[in-house]
Amino acid sequence: MTIMEALRRGEAQLGAKGVEDPRFNADLMLGAVLALARDRLYLERERALGPEEERRFSDLLSRRGAGEPLQYILGSQEFMGLNFCVDRRVLIPRPETECLAVQFLAAVPAAETVKVLDLCTGSGVLALTAAVYRPGARVTGTDLSADALAVARLNARRLQASVDWRQGDFLDPVRGESWDWILCNPPYVTFREYEATAPEIRFEPKEALVGGEDGLDFYRRLASEVRAFLKPGGRLLLEIGWQQAAAVCALLNQRGLKTEVFRDLARKDRVILAR
Ligand code: GLN
Repeated sequence: MTIMEALRRGEAQLGAKGVEDPRFNADLMLGAVLALARDRLYLERERALGPEEERRFSDLLSRRGAGEPLQYILGSQEFMGLNFCVDRRVLIPRPETECLAVQFLAAVPAAETVKVLDLCTGSGVLALTAAVYRPGARVTGTDLSADALAVARLNARRLQASVDWRQGDFLDPVRGESWDWILCNPPYVTFREYEATAPEIRFEPKEALVGGEDGLDFYRRLASEVRAFLKPGGRLLLEIGWQQAAAVCALLNQRGLKTEVFRDLARKDRVILAR
């Protein structure tokens, strides 16, 4: 079988399983098997696959056909121009979360020496974006999941960035300390939304997604405690579900924090800045 034949077969197989953009998926998975960039696949389209290559491609097609997200199969996801390793131990970083990173970078000058905390760091995307693009920052990342932190550490090594990783529940690992910036993309999906979402989401850690009955559990905990963790003039950047802006602003306003809401590229409320 040639590369071109394999791609056609892959496209048909994934299409039949209802995978969106089946050709794009097939391209990237065959590219991963052959360690070829997408344009090389097409330049070498008449090249024949070896039996081992065919077998590995067919394994990946079955996994994708069974609903496993492409990012877990390829083992990576880009975020803010950086390449991050991801697997089932961490949430797949979403493009919406870049909106939070952009607000942070816009507010913090390049040479600034700030103390930054990324709560619920997962794969470490926010902590590492801060550490890579703001080398003067001292960055701490926390997560309840030791498994997630192992992925974050791996990403830090690959990006040659230094972050102080700490394992523990929410603010527990950093009690007694204060920060110029706290970044947080907490689990905020409601039970009902989780049940109603496409089955692919079940490959991701549920505890990274679901924020309780109304999705607001983490915001309530954060609002009640966060002031003690902010230096004077310190700021909090929070990702929210697009329908949660009013509720989360109210929680923060009750604690005397001023809030501002930013929208993502789809013009949905996505990030709250509190000070
Ligand atoms: N901070 C990580 C991200 O933004 C993980 C967030 C989470 O697991 N809730 O992708």
